[in-house]
Amino acid sequence: MTANTPEGGALHDLTLAEARQRLLDGDLTSRSLTQAHLDRIAQTEPSVGAFITVTADEALEQADAADALIASGDIPSPLTGLPIALKDVLMTQGTRTTAGSRMLDSLIPPYDATVVSRLRAAGAVSLGKTNMDEFAMGSSTEHSAWHPTSNPWDLERVPGGSSGGSAAAVAARQCLGSLGSDTGGSIRQPASFCGVVGLKPTYGRVSRYGLIAFASSLDQIGPFTRTVEDAALLLQEIAGPDPLDSTCYDVPVPDFMGQIERGLDGLRIAAPQEFFSDGMDDDVAEAMETALELLASNGAEIDRTPRMPSLPMALPVYYILAPSECSANLARFDGVKYGYGARGGESMWSDMEATRGHGFGREVKRRILLGAYALSAGYYDAYYLQAQKVRTLIRREFDRVFAEHDLIVAPTAPTVAFKRGAITDPYQMYLNDIFTIPANIAGLPAISVPGGFGADGMPVGLQLVGPRLDEATVLQVASAYERLAGWSTAPDG
Ligand code: GLN
Repeated sequence: MTANTPEGGALHDLTLAEARQRLLDGDLTSRSLTQAHLDRIAQTEPSVGAFITVTADEALEQADAADALIASGDIPSPLTGLPIALKDVLMTQGTRTTAGSRMLDSLIPPYDATVVSRLRAAGAVSLGKTNMDEFAMGSSTEHSAWHPTSNPWDLERVPGGSSGGSAAAVAARQCLGSLGSDTGGSIRQPASFCGVVGLKPTYGRVSRYGLIAFASSLDQIGPFTRTVEDAALLLQEIAGPDPLDSTCYDVPVPDFMGQIERGLDGLRIAAPQEFFSDGMDDDVAEAMETALELLASNGAEIDRTPRMPSLPMALPVYYILAPSECSANLARFDGVKYGYGARGGESMWSDMEATRGHGFGREVKRRILLGAYALSAGYYDAYYLQAQKVRTLIRREFDRVFAEHDLIVAPTAPTVAFKRGAITDPYQMYLNDIFTIPANIAGLPAISVPGGFGADGMPVGLQLVGPRLDEATVLQVASAYERLAGWSTAPDG
């Protein structure tokens, strides 16, 4: 049975903002809202597989606490009683956290990631931990050590990755919003594939304390939601300085909702040619043209003249830097301190070899090998150092465009979601992130917002990239586009 709202819509179809209003108005309890989402999980999870761990009992306890708080008349925190989900790369005190890897099959963290404690402090109810590519390396969630996740729009297709579980859970209405992480596109590409909103904030806007590190100069945490407004609500709570993460900006967080309805008038939006060239499928290109026309006919100025000649180097640069950083970050998984550890070999070294041999999957091993090679004596200057120099060139090209433009518009991914098993060549898989990686390389905020439909009725994502720390303008334009385009974010059922 499906729980309904007073108007007859299903509770799991509410947006975060709508559910919040209903709770405050007293015509909905967090318990019924949370139970409706748990029921929805029970109904859809056998086919979608978005979660690694569902924490139903804890969720209902948190919901009851939220209801008690609202009933007491205290002004509740912004997310009080609202059910959300967390990518399994975020530390959750007392709840198993695996990063999609056998290596961490038994890790029960003794502390919460900063974003998790902030969501708890804001009153959110956590439904559990979502599936992902192992250690966030991948674009399809097929590299989870546990099971693949399906795209709710077409169960034979991938949801994207690495935060595929978080994107699919929102698209399947299993939660009102979720958190993911984005190192080269892992929030925006699955958002695009699953027809939902996904925001990667500025590098340093959101604390990474308690995020299991992949590539520390690129990693960032952000929200998945059904609407841009909901993304702003979640970002508002998780953003801001954190003494536990020295890479976090010590600057105040603006009121994102205050700017979100300002519209498009007078905004200059660049559409650099390099973002609209190689590798994009025709259906995606068509959707992009329609989106650009809509923006242009509603007050924005679209400028297609800017050039960013170094942009095609972003993908190769990423595949030097990200594996290099990952080879350093993943060195800690030696079987001694936490997680999986092989025992009983001839020596400490053979136990370590067995631990890493069994604990890591193929893609993770490939990245570690690539990174160790790029960092090794004799190759460091040719690869790592060179990549850092090109990274600086790419950053400068963004700075030049933003000196004269408010935002950059681009496709999120070159294709719609592909069938499970269709991409077996690692390089082909890496090409999924060709349009998302540049924002990570330059540390810029970027959103994917539903931008129409392509082949076989699958969603296409429109990407907006903003200047450093200007999430407000990114959200403003994304919200204006969302209102104008009015794309459905609901797969049937
Ligand atoms: N797909 C990219 C990779 O495999 C990006 C992953 C991410 O953003 N975490 O590295």
